[in-house]
Amino acid sequence: MTQDMPDGHRRPPAVGSAPRRAPIVGGTSHRRTAGPRREVLLACVAVALLVPLSLPAAGGAQPQEEVELAAYSPAGDAVPEVLEQDGTSTDARAEVRKLLDAQETRREREKEEAERAAEEKREAERAEEEAEQAEAAEEEAEQAESGPSYVRPAEGRFTSGFGARWGSHHSGIDIANSIGTPIVSVTGGTVIEAGPASGFGLWVKVRHDDGTVTVYGHMDRILVGAGQRVGAGEQIATIGNRGQSTGPHLHFEVWQGGQTPIDPVGWLAERGVSVR
Ligand SMILES: [Zn+2]
Repeated sequence: MTQDMPDGHRRPPAVGSAPRRAPIVGGTSHRRTAGPRREVLLACVAVALLVPLSLPAAGGAQPQEEVELAAYSPAGDAVPEVLEQDGTSTDARAEVRKLLDAQETRREREKEEAERAAEEKREAERAEEEAEQAEAAEEEAEQAESGPSYVRPAEGRFTSGFGARWGSHHSGIDIANSIGTPIVSVTGGTVIEAGPASGFGLWVKVRHDDGTVTVYGHMDRILVGAGQRVGAGEQIATIGNRGQSTGPHLHFEVWQGGQTPIDPVGWLAERGVSVR
């Protein structure tokens, strides 16, 4: 071959010289040239496949804007029909955007109004509740005031009044009844004494809220102690026959200002209680 030079050097083969190489590779030349052709074919197929896929993306400005507008519209809302149409003009889009803006503004206003209404409702309920509480408190106070604030100290027969009696002064009234008959506090107050007393045998003294003291004598049993709070009509003792007594009865006194005995009949009558 001509590749061998006279000086023993091999001449470098011409690069890319197919005609020179073709004879060297001989029968294999046909198979090798088929490779590039297949690659071109595959590339064409790929392009053919990719072009249709990429077309929507290429015209992507429109769908993207639609997505943007759809996102702008509050969730759950259908995108206005005009947005779904292809080739919507810029003016139409601006119009739609304006409509959506108006819709959003209206929604916000409605939400604000609903919140305001709810707050007003809560306030009204609060006011109603407060009014009810005030009414209940008033009722309670009225009941406390209008309850049976004064009662008879004991049931029985009126046997002796206040004043001069048998050459001496009778400082109270007598109500006769059998031993064991309940004696009650004529009104609310605090027990200030409960025990033995000269002439009374046993006595109970109750100081009421206006400073008046009521005195109960000759009782058989005492049911309260000094310092105890008692209500109107609350039992404090039972009728007895102790001390200077001519038979089972209650001796009852009223000390105005806690010191001066006054006629219990008049005092009770002024308070709506009759003992005669
Ligand atoms: Zn008496």
